[in-house]
Amino acid sequence: MSFEKLQIIEPILRALKNEGYTKPTPIQEQAIPILLQRKDLLGCAQTGTGKTAAFAIPILQLLHDDEKFVKGPHGIKALVLTPTRELAIQIGESFAAYGKHLRIRHAVIFGGVSQKAQTDALRAGVDILIATPGRLLDLMAQKYVHLQHLKLFVLDEADRMLDMGFIHDVKKVIAKLPAKRQTLFFSATMPPEIQVLANTILVNPSKVEVTPVSSTVDAIRQAVYFVEKKDKSKLLSHLLEDRSVNSALVFTRTKHGADKVAKTLNASGIKAEAIHGNKSQNARQRALSNFKARQTRVLVATDIAARGIDVDNLSHVINFELPNVPETYVHRIGRTGRAGASGIALSFCDAEEKEFLRDIHKLIAKTIPVVGDHPYPMSNTSIAHPQAQQKQASGGRSNGQRPFNRNGNRKGFGSNKPSNNRHRTQ
Ligand code: AMP
Repeated sequence: MSFEKLQIIEPILRALKNEGYTKPTPIQEQAIPILLQRKDLLGCAQTGTGKTAAFAIPILQLLHDDEKFVKGPHGIKALVLTPTRELAIQIGESFAAYGKHLRIRHAVIFGGVSQKAQTDALRAGVDILIATPGRLLDLMAQKYVHLQHLKLFVLDEADRMLDMGFIHDVKKVIAKLPAKRQTLFFSATMPPEIQVLANTILVNPSKVEVTPVSSTVDAIRQAVYFVEKKDKSKLLSHLLEDRSVNSALVFTRTKHGADKVAKTLNASGIKAEAIHGNKSQNARQRALSNFKARQTRVLVATDIAARGIDVDNLSHVINFELPNVPETYVHRIGRTGRAGASGIALSFCDAEEKEFLRDIHKLIAKTIPVVGDHPYPMSNTSIAHPQAQQKQASGGRSNGQRPFNRNGNRKGFGSNKPSNNRHRTQ
């Protein structure tokens, strides 16, 4: 399948080529034809599947066609509602990239920053608005945003909206939209409340489902390290001595934890920055840009701050702490191994987290291989993971296997031995 076969217009094809996209991902292959027929869509897909392009490309194309053939009144034609500022910015960047040869204007609005630049953009005229719910409602109340000419509405990451307590704001926005519109609804999971919402706002939708949340992307190599809580920082520094870990997104459960880990890494000479909700929007953006530009090798993040962070060729995700919600594990590791690339996800598990690990195993329906031979082994792994103790004692591997690094090289996995891929340019 090619983008040409999906009837994508030439200026968008050119832009996609420029982005290095050679063929559509499965969700794009399925969703684009449905959306170009102006049908409603229910998409079950997590980030990393190419879902942004799956809606951004047809939206640009439909608005371009409308502009050409049925010139209507000015005003916002498409609204994308997304839960976090980072996601909003990334979606904006996607529209900019795919629409760079079109004359379709977009703006991104989110809270935590002055509204001036956003209201200026709105006043100048916008075809596509990408917004987080709170700031959108705020600017709607101030009459900067008018949605009466809206034709397309995208609700992105609906389940996350629910988790983050935004669902009432989302419903308030929906109540203000014209009834006659095309609606696109994306969610990685379908809890009952989300299913009800989908049923109420979609009309006869086509359903597209890729990579259900319980099946972790096969391209990602996963491994777990049993380690005492007090030794986690040392283990992290040890793993990062391996230069084949060329970019690592490290997850902590708390904001304070993120700061602490970043501080410890910097003190041991490893350049790291933390990103979380207590940081100013500018500081978060700066940290993210430094990480994307490879100026910072390690970004330490909480789940909410990291939601949807999109970094090309992120080599490693490291769970400094395991999440208590198993789906979060899947979301976290999905930051690597994107769009067909391989990636590595390493998890630290202390005594208190073994329960979380069991839940993760249940959800992904497999056991994550254990790395037994590291310098900070837990003293009593036998209690909750007899297998690990056994393997450790014999210097062996869980499942007879040692996880691989990205090149399939079994040596460089957190050891400080020279790696054969340190000269890779990414
Ligand atoms: P998303 O699921 O929208 O967060 O996209 C995940 C990543 O895949 C982003 O870095 C996109 O730039 C990239 N991507 C999306 N579609 C394609 C494609 N057809 N070919 C290659 N990369 C893609």
